[in-house]
Amino acid sequence: MKQRNEVPYKIYLSEEELPKAWYNVRADMKNKPAPLLNPGTLQPMTFEELQPVFCDELIRQELDNDTAYIPIPQPIRDFYKMYRPSPLVRAYFLEEKLGTPAKIYYKFEGNNTSGSHKLNSAIAQAYYAKMQGLKGVTTETGAGQWGTALSMACSFFDLDCQVYMVKVSYEQKPFRREVMRTYGAAVTPSPSETTEVGRRILAAHPGTTGSLGCAISEAVEAASKQPGYRYVLGSVLNQVLLHQSIIGLETKAALDKYSIVPDIIIGCAGGGSNLGGLISPFMGEKLRGERDYRIIAAEPASCPSLTRGKFAYDFCDTGMVCPLAKMYTLGSDFIPSANHAGGLRYHGMSSILSQLYHDGLMEAVSVEQTEVFKAAELFARCEGTLPAPESSHAIRAAIDEALKCKETGEEKTIVFGLTGTGYFDMVAYGKFNDGQMSDYVPTDEELAASFAKLPKVNQ
Ligand SMILES: *Cc1c(COP(=O)(O)O)cnc(C)c1O
Repeated sequence: MKQRNEVPYKIYLSEEELPKAWYNVRADMKNKPAPLLNPGTLQPMTFEELQPVFCDELIRQELDNDTAYIPIPQPIRDFYKMYRPSPLVRAYFLEEKLGTPAKIYYKFEGNNTSGSHKLNSAIAQAYYAKMQGLKGVTTETGAGQWGTALSMACSFFDLDCQVYMVKVSYEQKPFRREVMRTYGAAVTPSPSETTEVGRRILAAHPGTTGSLGCAISEAVEAASKQPGYRYVLGSVLNQVLLHQSIIGLETKAALDKYSIVPDIIIGCAGGGSNLGGLISPFMGEKLRGERDYRIIAAEPASCPSLTRGKFAYDFCDTGMVCPLAKMYTLGSDFIPSANHAGGLRYHGMSSILSQLYHDGLMEAVSVEQTEVFKAAELFARCEGTLPAPESSHAIRAAIDEALKCKETGEEKTIVFGLTGTGYFDMVAYGKFNDGQMSDYVPTDEELAASFAKLPKVNQ
């Protein structure tokens, strides 16, 4: 049996140790992520072109590939203090259960009402919207975590919040919807009849249960049609990865306290924000040639952007109203099967992570739903926390790496991101408990059909 006091079960940082600046990994990237393109001119989007849609300060952050550290404004740090620094936990009980010589740590981001890391960026985006004197913001939400986080952030700064929620989640997760409404947000199931693009999508795909791509199109249109409103996004964009770097900075500070150097860092990947945030400071060291780490993205086999997608310019949304982003994509027309990790059902991936992956600086694995829930169940039973299905993709990948260590006898140190809790996902857990979960994986033909519709930009 292992010593359970090698390091504390939870490594906490003090309030003073809460990072004072976000870290922008782009500053250390030799190959910068490709710029967003205007779909009409195919030229990089300028500040002025982005202004009708996004908040000014957030555009500056989006376009800034050079500034390594961006100070966190005091009101945001003050809000962070309500739920940060978040603990880094040594998974002693999981290690023991697996009988692995590996040392496993997880950074737990589920300790706030929204239940996930998304609040880290929501509060920053709401703050900049408020500073600009805006009336409100529009957004989309898939599984509901981002919408919940944004409603909390908007109510804190007294901003109006309009959320387009993917219809299948709206219907399956009424409690998520009510949390958002409790924080004052207006929630509309998407696609809806309230926008032109929603009506167009409904006509083309009658009876569709929606997708993140559709909801994004509707939210962007809603923002551009109401004076004093801007659109905000909970993942994928460079600015969101920047805000989420707080996860990695805290993780690194906690590990440094005990001189722990991880061998493997793992995160689940939907649009890439938690993974990007978790790995940023470590990737920075890797890019500067100071240290090497294995970095692994865990994605669902049902929506495998990195492992089976194409690295190409594509629309960020289904309605093709957004700029083009160069990323690993399944095609903006790809609507993944209704899997239970709603927060990972996005056709694309952050341009930053896509570039890093393309340059061989990180790896990706895809994991099937039933295996993910087996990992979730094991984790819940030995570590106590009921994980979000999204987070459980990282748990699965971490367990698989720990089991490899068991075979080889290697004492590797594994760190993974536990992005949230799964209390609103009990319908999915119910299916798993009843043995009725399916493992749908798209065929090559389905993907090929979607790739054929990629915009013809590719340089
Ligand atoms: C949204 C979400 C994710 C995936 O989003 P990323 O932008 O890839 O981080 C993962 N876990 C939870 C709990 C989420 O809410």
